[in-house]
Amino acid sequence: MDFNLIKETENQQVFLPILEEKKITLFIKREDLIHPFVSGNKFRKLKYNLQEATKLKKKSILTFGGAYSNHILATAVAGKLAGLRTFGVIRGEELGKNITETLKENATLREAHEHGMKFHFVTREDYRQKTSFGFIEKMKNKWGDFYLIPEGGTNFLAVDGCQEILTKEDASFNYICAAVGTGGTLAGLIKSIKRKQKVIGFPALKGNFLSEEIKKYTIKNDTWKLQKGYHFGGYAKFNEELIDFINNFKVETGILLDPVYTGKMLFGIIDLIKKDTFEEGTKILAIHTGGIQGIAGFNQELIKKNQQIINVE
Ligand SMILES: *Cc1c(COP(=O)(O)O)cnc(C)c1O
Repeated sequence: MDFNLIKETENQQVFLPILEEKKITLFIKREDLIHPFVSGNKFRKLKYNLQEATKLKKKSILTFGGAYSNHILATAVAGKLAGLRTFGVIRGEELGKNITETLKENATLREAHEHGMKFHFVTREDYRQKTSFGFIEKMKNKWGDFYLIPEGGTNFLAVDGCQEILTKEDASFNYICAAVGTGGTLAGLIKSIKRKQKVIGFPALKGNFLSEEIKKYTIKNDTWKLQKGYHFGGYAKFNEELIDFINNFKVETGILLDPVYTGKMLFGIIDLIKKDTFEEGTKILAIHTGGIQGIAGFNQELIKKNQQIINVE
């Protein structure tokens, strides 16, 4: 695939009464528009990994993820474009019992399957052992040799790819904000900011390991921080307030956010602005990393509670 096509994405200014009141400028980098259903940052994380796999003459790649994983779907799509076979180790043995039913119910896995990905479903216990020598050997016996990409897609080559998110023009922003899962995207941003710029990460999950993860990839440490109060209970957890925020944001700005990552980040940014965390005149750039494909699966759960993320025009 021609990854150069994804080099630069546009920044869109958003206008909201609170921004006017507090005299804050907010732009959103539309990495979500790189692909209709692949998270922008996942493409960037795969770019140099797929080049490396090709250089090593590998014919296939293997990676891991949950049943709604943006990374699983991105690997299937990008792998196909790069001419590589893809294997996905999926958490949830029960999903493998009736594949036809699973693919009917689950749009993420269906799309990945349609892009040629082969699945191996494992129990939660086995999933925890997925990087062990024994498990990897078992996968090699099943599928032959492959290039291994970690869960969530983060490694040094992925961070290199994420250093290409910011452009020269972005040097005028005071703060760069992004949602954090594994921290690879944030590490790339931290490595590429200019002097005086700061990065704020909004973890989408609970836990104190993230700072250490990010420090593996960058030696800079006084130019960034994690704003930990906006995970809404943990990974893929949410409440009515978050869903309302996402729906209102769509109405007011035309931009659709996902409930796992970008919705929590923007909720956090707006909340910090309300609390006067930023001085007047501050310019903020928030990275819309994508994740829109996951909304369909989310809505299946939300509808049971009479809620829904409005994801149609
Ligand atoms: C994976 C993902 C993230 C988190 O990226 P990391 O590099 O794992 O921190 C953020 N937003 C979206 C939409 C994602 O799919």
